[in-house]
Amino acid sequence: MATKGQFRVECPHCGESFDADFWTVVRGDRDHDVKELILSGEFDLLICPKCEDMVQHEEPFLYIDPTRDILAFVMPESYEAEKDKWIARMQADYQPVKAALTAGQGLTGEPLYLFGLGALTALLESDRDREEETDVMEFMAREEGLQLLPVKPAAARELDLPFTIPVRTGMAGRAAALSAAEGLYAKNDALPRLKKLVEFLKTPGSDTVPFLKNK
Ligand SMILES: [Zn+2]
Repeated sequence: MATKGQFRVECPHCGESFDADFWTVVRGDRDHDVKELILSGEFDLLICPKCEDMVQHEEPFLYIDPTRDILAFVMPESYEAEKDKWIARMQADYQPVKAALTAGQGLTGEPLYLFGLGALTALLESDRDREEETDVMEFMAREEGLQLLPVKPAAARELDLPFTIPVRTGMAGRAAALSAAEGLYAKNDALPRLKKLVEFLKTPGSDTVPFLKNK
């Protein structure tokens, strides 16, 4: 699969038509510079070769990050008016390559359909905050000699938890996680997702922690 494609763009300022390169596939875990362009809002900006003015232009692309279980079809915001048609088209394109894209990569294979780059940026910003908090929590956990277990990224997003959970060794199941999380939260109460983890683990339910990633 090619990662770049060429499309014709018309400058809204001077009317000039020109060919421009666009990413068709972005690997979030490998293309760090491109991910930065998305986060900084420069990803879909072009310079018109004639009037040298800035032109914003979106083309559909696939954003993949197996480490965070993201496979997202990112479409221009204007496609949202015909949402069903575009989702059906993306699904049809996806089926033949699904096996190759998801095999052994840590992707569950459930794609996201996003309209507008802003939707992807919001997801990546929220993940970045979660990563930063997870890093702080992991550092403290290691100092305490706690074990760390990875959480399924989709579950971490849905429940607004860290990407890993601390576990006290020598204990099992929910109690091991609750004891570790409470101990860390007592030392640093500026970690909102750690607080959510404590609250989540306190709610009655099964004694197994259901959202851990199978390694
Ligand atoms: Zn122009």
